[in-house]
Parts: sequence; C-alpha cells; structure tokens
Amino acid sequence: MLDNLTQRLAKVVKTMRGEARLTETNTAEMLREVRMALLEADVALPAVRDFIARVKEKALGEEVISSLSPGQALVGVVQRELAALMGADLGPEAAQLSFAQQPPAIILMAGLQGVGKTTTVGKLAKYLKEEKKKKVLTVSADVYRPAAIAQLQSVTAQVGADFFPSTAQDKPVDIALAALDWAKKHYHDVLIIDTAGRLGIDEEMMKEIAAVHGAVKPIETLFVVDAMLGQDAINTAKAFNDALPLTGIVLTKLDGDSRGGAALSVRHITGKPIKFAGVSEKLDGLEAFDPTRMANRVLGMGDILALVEEARKGVDAKAAADLAAKVKSGGKFDMNDFKAQLGQMKKMGGMASLVDKLPAQFQQAAGNANMDQADKQVRRMVGIIDSMTKAERAKPELIKATRKRRIAAGAGVQVQEVNRMLNQFEQMQTMMKKLSGGGMMKMMRSMKG
Ligand code: GDP
Repeated sequence: MLDNLTQRLAKVVKTMRGEARLTETNTAEMLREVRMALLEADVALPAVRDFIARVKEKALGEEVISSLSPGQALVGVVQRELAALMGADLGPEAAQLSFAQQPPAIILMAGLQGVGKTTTVGKLAKYLKEEKKKKVLTVSADVYRPAAIAQLQSVTAQVGADFFPSTAQDKPVDIALAALDWAKKHYHDVLIIDTAGRLGIDEEMMKEIAAVHGAVKPIETLFVVDAMLGQDAINTAKAFNDALPLTGIVLTKLDGDSRGGAALSVRHITGKPIKFAGVSEKLDGLEAFDPTRMANRVLGMGDILALVEEARKGVDAKAAADLAAKVKSGGKFDMNDFKAQLGQMKKMGGMASLVDKLPAQFQQAAGNANMDQADKQVRRMVGIIDSMTKAERAKPELIKATRKRRIAAGAGVQVQEVNRMLNQFEQMQTMMKKLSGGGMMKMMRSMKG
C-alpha cells in the first residue's frame, strides 16, 4: 500500500531531518519534492495545494526556525499536517459511529458497484456484533442484482448477524421500511442497509438512494470508496456528498497495490471523516481509521502502534508471564518453551504482515530476507521439535549425533537443519537468561517505547 509514495517521502524526511539550517531555498526544495510525490500518488490537486500551503506557513514560522533541530521540527510539521489532511483535526470521535437514534440505529451504505460495499456491510456487522455487542440486522435494497441480495445473505450468515430477506420485485424504499419495522419488533440495535451501486454516477440511482435516506433517516450514511480508483474515487465521493448528507467514508482495498492518493484527499474534498479502512477481502479486514497512524505510515515512520497492538493480541499474556516467572525463579528454558515461543510468532500473523508495519528503513532491510521463507522456517522448526522425545525436549543437551539423525529423519529435514535449530535454541536460551529480570513482559514493554 502506498509504497512508492512512502519511499519517496521517507527519503525527503531523511534529508529534512539532517538539515541543521532551514533556508527558504532548501525548504522550498523539499516541499517541491513532497508536492510531486503526492501528485504522483494521485492525491487530488486542491488537497495537495492546501497541504503544501499549510506546511510552508509553519515551516517559516517561529516554532520551526527557532527549534534546535529545524529539520526534525519540519518533519513534525509535515507529519501533523498530513494527519490533519486525513482528518486528525476532527479529533478521535470523528471515526466513531453514532448510535444516537431511537433503536435501531440505521446505517445506510452508498457507493458504486464493485467498490466493496456488500463486503463492508459484513465487516461492519461483525465489528458491531463482536466489538460493540450490538444486535445487528442487515438488508439489501439492491433490487437490480438478485446476486447482490444473495451475497449479502451469505456474508451476514458468515458473521452470525440477522438478515432481512428482500426480492427484486420490491421497491427499495419499501424494503428499507419493512426491515426497519422488523428490526424494531425484534429489538435490533443496528440496521445496516446495503444499496444498489452502478458502474458510474447515475441520476436514477442518486434519486433512489436519496428516497431511501428520506424514508428511514439514518444516523450514519457511509460512502464506500475503493482506494484503488484514485482520482475517480474522489469525483464520485464529491458527487455523492452533494446528493446525500454523508456522515463518513469507508475506504476499501487499502491493502491493494494502489497509489492510494484517495486516502489522502477524500476527506479534504468531501469534508467528511474517513471512519473505516478495508484492508483485506476477509470479513475481519476492517480497521478504524486513524489519521495520525496513517500519516506515520505514509511517511515511512511505520505503524508501530499497530505492531504493538498485534503483538499484544497475538501474545498470550499468561503464557508469557508463566515463562517469565519460570526463568526468573531459575527454571530452565527448554524446547517446550521454545516451541511455545515459535507458536506465538505464528499467531502474531506471520512475519510478512508484521514487516508491513515497520518503519520504511527497517522494511528495506527486512525486504532483503524473504519473509515467506521465514514463515516456512518457523513451521519447519516446530516440525523438528515435534520429532523430539519428551526427554529430549526437557533436556536438549541429550541430543547428540544419533538422536539428531533420528529427529532429522522424523521431521523430513537434513541434520544440518537440526543443528541450526539447536543453535537458535541456545541463543534464545541465553537471551532468556538475560531477560530473566523481567522476562517477556519487559521485552513486550520495551517494544512500546
Ligand atoms: P459491491 O459491489 O460494492 O457490493 O462490492 P463487493 O462487496 O462485492 O466487493 C467487490 C470485490 O472487492 C470483492 O471481490 C471483494 O472481496 C473485494 N473487496 C472488498 N473490500 C476489500 C478490501 O478491503 N480489500 C480487498 N483486497 N478486497 C476487497
């Protein structure tokens, strides 16, 4: 995602940081670089202009000029302004969904065909159900494509929410009202209405969705937009925003190989906050949009917060604490512990997905090592441990030549690989001894800082 932009900006950021003195010339030079990188990433021109103007004004301002490290201060300005461009100025509440409506709270979904609207309804239903403990009903008012109704039924079933059936013979407004009535009678907290999308902006479609909006008065009207569409995404967002009182944007396919400029300009063009980002085809691929984190990611500063969060999610805190307690009390770190550690790594979503969140300079280093290879390596190591006897796992020093050959044959690997694995185990054991003061928890905490 946004790889080119990130690489270019990361380079500018690096140069900027190093500047001991900011002159009008070198500042202008840097801003020109930033401007070009943004335009090439398909960020809409008015958004770029506005952004550059704000950065320029602050760059020549007191805060930066009188700073001990002006380059660093300017990077700070760029980072803050980029975050503001994506909605950080609206505050953290902007990304929250509002439920301030006599139940059910109604969410109306709008957008062109193929942008990921129906998938997003499924993702939202899952999020609302699991994170917000809401009872969710979904309904499709797409009477033009019976397949769309069936698709919504399927994703709704996958996330275990309720589905209100509709048919191609019904009228969208009638469908929405009938679903609303049903939701009230069955005490649903949230009703999500999926609507028809067309391939392009079309007056009929606008009228129809405006009529549904008028009939049910949703608390949230979310415009779903495909980040891969670049400038086109921005134009449709503008057209919908003129026709409907949107309350927020969902950007889909941010995981894709897009230039991604839409992420940076859609807020500026519509004035509406980006509430969520779609980051995979799967139904758990939805993230609350955080402009500051996004700005850091775009600037190649890495999404350390997401990394720590992922690590926290993946790491079994009790297992980590138990291990820490064991090592601290003089217990020995054995193969069973090593296997548990490898298991944690697998749970953390594989190396490849973690690397994606590292700052650009680390990504480059990591890019040299093949991450899929690393994931495979972890699986092979687990295979080797699985071929050991209970006694060998508890006392790896027992493992001499004959045992090594047996283990290698059992795991279907060469003896060298068993040796390599035993080496890695010893390194881990040494590290564990060093960490015994605070164990894993300390390591986890140090990741935050
Ligand atoms: P709709 O016509 O707007 O309802 O679009 P769909 O929900 O049918 O999605 C169209 C395609 O985009 C499907 O193949 C989805 O799997 C895919 N898709 C939706 N959201 C995302 C996303 O966030 N990332 C990726 N990679 N694919 C997505």
